[in-house]
Amino acid sequence: MLIAQDENKLVEANHASRNNQYVCPGCQQKVILKRGLQKISHFAHRWGGCQTASENESQIHLAGKIALKKILAVSKQPVQLEHYFISIKQRADLCLTKQQIIVEYQCSPISLQRLQQRHNGYKMVNYQVYWILGNPYLKHRIDDSLVSKFGRYHSKLGFYILYYDSMANRFILRHSIVEKAGKYYWQQSVFKSLQEWQKLIKDWQPNYLTTIPLNQQVQQLKRMQQQIVRGQINCKELLTTCYLARKNLIGCPWICHCKSTQIPIYGKKSLQWRIWLLIQLFDSPRSNLKITDLKAIYNQLINKYALDFVQIEVIPDFQRILFWNYIKELAQFGYLRLFYDKLIIIRKPVWYPDLEHKLGCEKEYLK
Ligand SMILES: [Zn+2]
Repeated sequence: MLIAQDENKLVEANHASRNNQYVCPGCQQKVILKRGLQKISHFAHRWGGCQTASENESQIHLAGKIALKKILAVSKQPVQLEHYFISIKQRADLCLTKQQIIVEYQCSPISLQRLQQRHNGYKMVNYQVYWILGNPYLKHRIDDSLVSKFGRYHSKLGFYILYYDSMANRFILRHSIVEKAGKYYWQQSVFKSLQEWQKLIKDWQPNYLTTIPLNQQVQQLKRMQQQIVRGQINCKELLTTCYLARKNLIGCPWICHCKSTQIPIYGKKSLQWRIWLLIQLFDSPRSNLKITDLKAIYNQLINKYALDFVQIEVIPDFQRILFWNYIKELAQFGYLRLFYDKLIIIRKPVWYPDLEHKLGCEKEYLK
């Protein structure tokens, strides 16, 4: 850590003296000043076991905090390093007390549960939190877990994750994150200051919703088929549902495939949830569903397929929009008719016995 307490004063390791005694602002245990030619000055607990400070804090983390403090200080607002909140027993990497904003520079792995806990803690003291990811995260591809923990949303940039490379002193923004036939795609922008970030947002023309060509859908199906054969598929429950309905997952109607890229509300599982919903709607003897039935199905769908997001609050709106878009698509293709209080099944979408038959009817997808 970079900050320790000397009597009642907080002192930055940079300005600390070896002759003084310092304690951790969190647990009040003694800390030692560590200073070396190759190292960033910092404090370490003498005995460890502190609940509020992570030990073995990497040099990348220390450097990032110092760099981010400089960048944020441009706004002429006081920026506090490692602000300790007594009421929630949490220490924030950086804190803009006036605007009630916290910036966490996350370099080490963190579980969804732990992240949610910390995030909720800051919400309890009425602070907004921005999680910025450190260098170790730059090596990882974007996956469901990362999107759900660190994904944020902006009307122009779409879903994005923000990184700070503390070795090259620059932000890396992976934005316009979309799912396209079971894979994530994103665009990357680099900037160095808050001004550049504002300019980027101002000039950006959103372009992330594009159509998905048939060959990418076919690749997804082939990948899924291989996963099924190897028993590696991550949708065993859906596979069983299809099996019980005597249907081949791979042979699902073309209407299940999204024709355009999707915002990652359901992670990489757009195809799965659409197949699941199709079975719920069309694979029962009933020919109409009350809106209340539909709502119950919707709630099940959310439980099964929607990703949890720690940092975005508008998610329920997105979930509903994607759900209703699909229902409308089914109506548009004449499979059902929608009334204000019910939904009537007109005809059932055709399932194919296998991939070959399905590819023989690819016109269905293209129409
Ligand atoms: Zn401590």
